[in-house]
Amino acid sequence: MDSNPTCAREGCARYVKSDSRFFPYCFKLCQLVDAEMSDAQRVVQATGNSELWAAVVTLSDALSEYQRQDYAALRAAQDVGVSPRQYREIKRGTGT
Ligand SMILES: [Zn+2]
Repeated sequence: MDSNPTCAREGCARYVKSDSRFFPYCFKLCQLVDAEMSDAQRVVQATGNSELWAAVVTLSDALSEYQRQDYAALRAAQDVGVSPRQYREIKRGTGT
């Protein structure tokens, strides 16, 4: 098995640690969105409602865009001397 697998949500390329709380997903939103995609897929297969599928794909794509922007914001913060740990503290409101 790959020692650094990527997130199980399609479209997410983040690495996942095997001891991650959300394994095989990188974090809770990927886990939740992927579950919604599976739910929607079952509904689409049963009912043929393709609009539901389009909507859940839009949701997943929006999460991927958020992750890209979050990473870009982290890189921009690092450029001015903020560490990844400090960035997490800023996001969580736990920084000093
Ligand atoms: Zn992910």
